[in-house]
Order: sequence, then C-alpha cells, then structure tokens
Amino acid sequence: MNELPARIDFAAYSENVPPNIPAAVQQATGRFIGSRQSRIAELPEWEALREAASQIRLHTLEHLDFYLERLAERVQAAGGTVHWAADAAQARHIALEIAQKHGARLAVKSKSMATEEIGLNHAFAQAGIEALETDLGEYIIQLAGTGPSHIIVPAVHLTKEEIAELFRQKLGIEAPPDPHHLTQIARTVLREKFLRADVGISGANFLVAETGTLVMVTNEGNGRMVTTLPDVHIAIVGIEKVIPDWEALTVLLKLLARSATGQKLSTYTSFITGPRRHEHEHGPREFHLILLDNGRSRILRDPLGRQVLKCIRCGACLNVCPVYRNVGGFAYGWFISGPIGAIFSPQMLGVERAGQLPFASSLCGACGEVCPVKIPIPQILLHLRRRAMEGDSFGGPNAPVTARLLASLSALAFRLPWLYRLGTRLLPLLTRPFSRAGWIPGLPPPANRWTKVRPFPVFAARFHEWWKNRKRTSA
Ligand code: SF4
Repeated sequence: MNELPARIDFAAYSENVPPNIPAAVQQATGRFIGSRQSRIAELPEWEALREAASQIRLHTLEHLDFYLERLAERVQAAGGTVHWAADAAQARHIALEIAQKHGARLAVKSKSMATEEIGLNHAFAQAGIEALETDLGEYIIQLAGTGPSHIIVPAVHLTKEEIAELFRQKLGIEAPPDPHHLTQIARTVLREKFLRADVGISGANFLVAETGTLVMVTNEGNGRMVTTLPDVHIAIVGIEKVIPDWEALTVLLKLLARSATGQKLSTYTSFITGPRRHEHEHGPREFHLILLDNGRSRILRDPLGRQVLKCIRCGACLNVCPVYRNVGGFAYGWFISGPIGAIFSPQMLGVERAGQLPFASSLCGACGEVCPVKIPIPQILLHLRRRAMEGDSFGGPNAPVTARLLASLSALAFRLPWLYRLGTRLLPLLTRPFSRAGWIPGLPPPANRWTKVRPFPVFAARFHEWWKNRKRTSA
C-alpha cells in the first residue's frame, strides 16, 4: 500500500495553509525560471536536445524489459545484488531485511523520491531503525514532520526565519536566520551521523544499462557520503529510470540541471558501478539495487499516459505552473506535486485517491513547453479527465457521481441550445439569494466544496445575448 491520505482534500488544505507559502514558493521558482532561461539561451541546439531526449526515453520505455535485464546482468557482474519489488510493501520489506541482516540501527539517506513513494522512513522507524535524511531540504522537512513540497527543493515553502525557528525547537540551537549559518549547523549534526551509519540509502537519477551504473546528480556532498561511508548501500529506484547507454546519458545530463536549477551541470555527478573492489580501501562492501515497479508496468499499457514515465524529475513544470506557484506542493496531497504530480498520482494510485488532480489545472500549457523530455502534460491531463469521467478508474472506483452528473448535464446543455438558454436564465435567478457584490461567497452542498475555498463569480445573465451583441459590435 502507498501512504496517501484517503482523499486529497483541497478545502482542508486551504484552511490550514500558512500565509507565506505562495510568497516563498513564487520567490524560489521565479529564480529557477530566470536561470533556466539564461542557460537555455546559451544552447542553440536546445530543441534538438529535447527531441533526442524524448526519443531516448520513449525508446527505453518501449524496450523496458530488454534494458532492465541488461542492467540487472551488468550490476550483478559488477558484484551488486539486484532485487525486484512489485510494489511498495515488497520494496520496504526487502530494504528492511537487508538492514536488519546487518544489525543496522542508523541508516543515512540521500534524497530519493522512490523512498518517499514507498514510505520507507516510517517502516524503518517502526522496526527501530533511524532513517535520517541528509539532503539539507529533506533534513529540514524531516525535522518539520512534513513531506516535500517540491520535487527538487523539498523545503521550498519555508523561509529562512522559519528554518531558524525549527532548528531552535528541534535541535535546541539558537541561530540567526542566515542560510550559511543554518547550513553549517546541519552539516555538523549530519557529519557525525554519516560516520556512525550502518547503511546508506539512495535513489538514482538514471541507471545506465550498458554498464550497470547508477547515476546520481546532486548539489550537496551528502549523496557521496551516503553511498561511500556505510558498509552497505541500498539503492531504491523506479524501473523507468533505466537508460540504454552513456551516449543517452550525455543528452539527458545536458538537459537536467539546466531545466532544474538553471545550472550547466549540478555540483556532483556520481557514477556507482557495484560495491567496492577488493583492491579498494573505501566504499560499501555490499551494493543492493531494488528495482521498483509499484504500478509502473500497468501505466505502460496506456500509450499516452505512459509518457509520464519519461520524466527525469527536473521540476521545471512545477516552477512555471501558475497553479503550483499559487497553492504550493502540499495541495497535491502526495510526495510528487505540480503538473507532473497531477498526471503521475492518478495513474499510480487510482482515481478514488487522486482523481481530482487532472482537473486542478488551467491547461495553460506552460508545463508542456518547458518539459525537457517533451511530455505532453496538457494532453495527458485531458486524457486523464476523460478516463475519469468515462469511468475508467485506473484500478479504483469510478469518478464521483456529482462530477459525472455535472459533466453529463453540461454535455446535454451544449448540445441543445434551448436548454443552454434556459440554464443561463435560471442559474442567475437560483443563485441570487447567495450573491454578495458580484460574488457568491457560499453555496449549499455539494457546491460548498468550491465556495469553502474561494468565492464563485455570479452567473452572467443573458450570456448568449451579450455574446451576440459583442459579435455585432466587433463586425
Ligand atoms: S514532467 Fe518534464 S518538466 Fe516536469 S519534472 Fe518531469 S521532466 Fe521535468
């Protein structure tokens, strides 16, 4: 089972949202947008690279079985062990079993979306093993007791003042709200943990099938500490992260950092092929690669929806999304937010848990324009809306009855002009008792789910007449 609230509740989120989330998010994402544009302007071949990357990812997905087998062979040839996890529970079980076999009490982790997906930290805590995040952003949100609100900047919603206050409360350390100072505190706390850790847990940005190499792209040195200091390295990676060869990697690396943070390359790019060799003094004695399916092979069956698996987790679509920038990541209800979350979560979890997400988009198209691997996000959003409304449940029950009823009524009204005209006359009359100064601040159930979050504009009376007059005037 995946750990997710029973239902994503936008109203509940909105009631509890700290007032500064959009400001903090807009400031950070605005910086990324600017840097990305500058880096792209330096590369005249940008569009050709995007096309090449898209083809590489599509090709790999179409031959996933072949590349996964090749990858597994090469990892084993390099001395590593490969485990196949059909779902989150199996992945947790395998990781826990490895850690327990080594009598682990402390596991240090580098940033990994796959471990967020399977709820690994919770499982380790229940088994009495501390799983400590060492990426600065992940460390901060672990202290705060929340999930990430951005896929590459997990604590993007917090200001430096809030982080200083968090350190005071959780670590008992008074510090000025200065990023350098706060980083030094985290570094001091974490360094001692790295040296004591029994197990290191990581994800991966890519897995190169040609040589069985795990590629990790980070901006902090923590990823290297996690994968070299402890005696055992466990990598938990989604099966879609495999790529054919190093040539493909060069294309994808050119796009990743530029799209994510506007850097030419991230500070560290680590290549890990198996555990330490006999002749080496340092490095883990064991390397375990857990290949996680957890619904991905089911997603592959949908020719359009499967393109979500091309994602290289750069976060560019979040940064430009007007919805994400105004509500922040928690509104998406799971570890993966923004436009990519809106097309990933419903396909992974089923419409009963995440079916609202494809509808929570303005369809402006900005996400599709920036995506470095050309995922047609707006088309997939529409496709998922259609699947939800047609009762294709992605493994769960059908779309909510009210949504289906409203869609059917709208379809009927748009087919029958007399019904449409009647509706536009009746709706302003019916809602007049609820109207205040051009807005409807509250509606009775079930429409109150909307008005709990934001007022509804009053219905324009005689829209069709206004439209006719407008056409006449402009002619
Ligand atoms: S969908 Fe595209 S833009 Fe969004 S995170 Fe994935 S690769 Fe980046």
